[in-house]
Amino acid sequence: MTCRKVVPLIDDFADGALDESLSEKIQKHFSACSKCECQLDETRRLKTLLGRLVNSEPGSQYFHVATELILTRVSAESQIQKRVH
Ligand SMILES: [Zn+2]
Repeated sequence: MTCRKVVPLIDDFADGALDESLSEKIQKHFSACSKCECQLDETRRLKTLLGRLVNSEPGSQYFHVATELILTRVSAESQIQKRVH
C-alpha cells in the first residue's frame, strides 16, 4: 500500500467500515508510515469530538453562557448602529 492509496481510506478505516483484508493492509502501512498514522490519529480525534457534540445534551451552563454571549453581542451591535445613525 502507498500513502496515496491509504489516505482516502483513513476515514473508513477509523469507522471500521473496511473489510478485514483491506484494513490489515492499511494497518501494516500505519505501523510503517508515521505520516499516515498521524492522520489516522487526527481523524479519530475529530470523530470523537464530533460524536461528543452530536450525542451530548447541552447542560444548563451552556445556555447560561450562550445567552450571555448573545446578549453582549446584541447590545454591542445596537451601540454600533446608534453610532452610525
Ligand atoms: Zn503513508
